[in-house]
Amino acid sequence: MTTLRTPAQLCEHGLAPPDRQSALTAVAARYAVAVPDALAQLINRADPQDPIARQIVPDAAELLHRPEELNDPIGDDEYSPVDGIVHRYPDRVLLKLTHICAVYCRFCFRREMVGPGKPNALSPQALVRAIEYIRTHPEIWEVILTGGDPLVLSARRLRSVMNALADIDHVKVVRIHTRVPVADPRRVTPALVRAMKIRGKPTYVAIHINHPRELTADARAACSRMADAGIPLLSQTVLLAGVNDTPDVMGQLMRALIECRIKPYYLHHADLAPGTSHLRTGIATGQRLMRYLRGRLSGLCQPTYVLDIPGGHGKSPIAPNYIERMQSNGVGHFVVEDFNGQQHQYPPPAANVGSP
Ligand code: SF4
Repeated sequence: MTTLRTPAQLCEHGLAPPDRQSALTAVAARYAVAVPDALAQLINRADPQDPIARQIVPDAAELLHRPEELNDPIGDDEYSPVDGIVHRYPDRVLLKLTHICAVYCRFCFRREMVGPGKPNALSPQALVRAIEYIRTHPEIWEVILTGGDPLVLSARRLRSVMNALADIDHVKVVRIHTRVPVADPRRVTPALVRAMKIRGKPTYVAIHINHPRELTADARAACSRMADAGIPLLSQTVLLAGVNDTPDVMGQLMRALIECRIKPYYLHHADLAPGTSHLRTGIATGQRLMRYLRGRLSGLCQPTYVLDIPGGHGKSPIAPNYIERMQSNGVGHFVVEDFNGQQHQYPPPAANVGSP
């Protein structure tokens, strides 16, 4: 089986019931579909709520658009000075090399922009202009290759972009955002890993992983090929209803990441992408999970829980608060909560000699 791209193929392979085919055809007409073999094999066809299927098999609920949902939920367009570049924060830019992915996630915040037939493929001329933008903005310290998925490019094309970035002195770090190591791990060949490396500068790879089952033997081997080549690995996880919104699953995922030499980086609150309300949780759910992780798992297993503020205002950490400023008898102090939920005064009362 190769990548499944139509509702008819999904029905034929038992990933969608035939009576839903026409509704799913309406979904597929609007949002790209790709279910690669590596992920299709993980789906338990007997489980209608399978957490892998929920992420990648289209659902008629995607046709339900809520008023608060936005076509460009994190405001990329507003911060795009030239095609392919998003310059939101002063010291870094996104460079969107392609609009193609190995898998199309049903909750994707760029779902209106990714997939075959979308109008924003980066032409060779536009790529030259994007590199020129980076070259002429000395404040850019880090370039983040994203998309689409930059690791669907050939090793030759990726290497030519990396060489162009290597020649720009003020760019000190390159980061690649990708789902390929779990969606199509055999694509991460030694040649592609060599192409990810950049002369004289570090490449970081941030891998999008949402469920511990995605870390198959093949995915782990792909991650090892990158880690063994000296590439630091980070993770990005999207908090998704019915996928990873329980302490058990989230805890297993964070531990499995560390065991694979992947440092948990971001836990994203799901964005207000159109037709994704069935996959979003409340922020209180994410905060409960973060308390669970902080209370029971190693410090290595702690991601930063973030919300991309709609309208392009960037990411903010939204983890629960453990410290509060208090005032008693005219003297200020803090109250800090420990990992068991117990509260403590800081500085302790005996040492409280003045306002902190
Ligand atoms: S791999 Fe990333 S960009 Fe592509 S569909 Fe999934 S979330 Fe969107």
